[in-house]
Amino acid sequence: PYDVLVVGGGPAAASAAIYAARKGVRTGIVAERFGGQILDTASIENFISVKHTEGPQLAASLEEHVKEYNVDIMNLQRATRLEKKDFVEIELENGAVLKSKTVILATGARWRNVGVPGEAEFKNKGVAYCTHCDGPLFEGKDVAVIGGGNSGIEAAIDLAGIANHVTVLEFMPELKADSVLQERVHSLPNVNVLKNVQTKEITGVDSVNGITYVDRESGTEHHVELSGTFVQIGLVPNTDWLGDTIERNRFGEIVVNNRGETNIPGVFAAGDCTTSPYNQIIIAMGSGATASLSAFDYLVRN
Ligand code: FAD
Repeated sequence: PYDVLVVGGGPAAASAAIYAARKGVRTGIVAERFGGQILDTASIENFISVKHTEGPQLAASLEEHVKEYNVDIMNLQRATRLEKKDFVEIELENGAVLKSKTVILATGARWRNVGVPGEAEFKNKGVAYCTHCDGPLFEGKDVAVIGGGNSGIEAAIDLAGIANHVTVLEFMPELKADSVLQERVHSLPNVNVLKNVQTKEITGVDSVNGITYVDRESGTEHHVELSGTFVQIGLVPNTDWLGDTIERNRFGEIVVNNRGETNIPGVFAAGDCTTSPYNQIIIAMGSGATASLSAFDYLVRN
């Protein structure tokens, strides 16, 4: 069996694997797609001490760093089941069962897509998902936010301080965001909130140049010219495969304490798949290190 088996291949998993291997314990990492969300990221400018990098380049550095150590990398393998017996068992899609004294879950999350024409085509060319990451790219420009829940309204408030103008598009007749956020957004002169509208298309040539929506009451179609669209209709943790074996909150996030411990002794979690309030590379790496040190502590004591 492994001492530490990491499930996932993003920044949290890479960090957890390196911290474990540096303790000299038997470490494995199972990743569906090594690199994680950063593979889909263009420029990264908030990974502190690295002024600028590109997602695929950072993903390659992560892998290179992990390979410096004695870590079994099982790439392109998906975990489908976790069970705690004498060891923690992880079953893979191909039927193999891996055993480990401790497991660190770092399966990340994915942004929910709106699925309209233009979204996939202009991803990283005006279509964005993370305001902390890409907001500054739209300084002084006009942008839209799709989604009027807490994350959408927080994004609009955040962007209002950077962009020239923000249009919020909410499908339902009412915003779902907390009232304090609604009050704040309505107080901002450069934010226009549209309710009961359906996004039809994100338009553009080489990059985004506008958004087309339908007023659901009148059925009329409108077009707004702008340079960016932030899709804020939810971040879904990749935790369905865990079923009821591990405690998750109503969003499906794995419940962890400040040591990265889950409700099952010997099972830890880190990064975007957990209840961690902010989803960023630097935070995922920090929580991966935390979970790994806690796993080592568990090994020492058991
Ligand atoms: P992920 O990166 O999501 O990695 C999860 C890993 O687990 C993947 O390798 C996946 O294949 C694997 N996996 C999932 N399910 C299974 C399974 N069942 N079995 C095995 N493996 C599995 N953050 C910043 O700090 N700065 C930025 O500029 C920035 N820009 C972003 C731009 C975009 C377009 C996106 C989508 C995100 C951006 N982020 C940015 C957020 C950042 O990428 C995430 O917070 C970070 O990648 C989370 O790391 P993670 O390791 O928790 O999860």
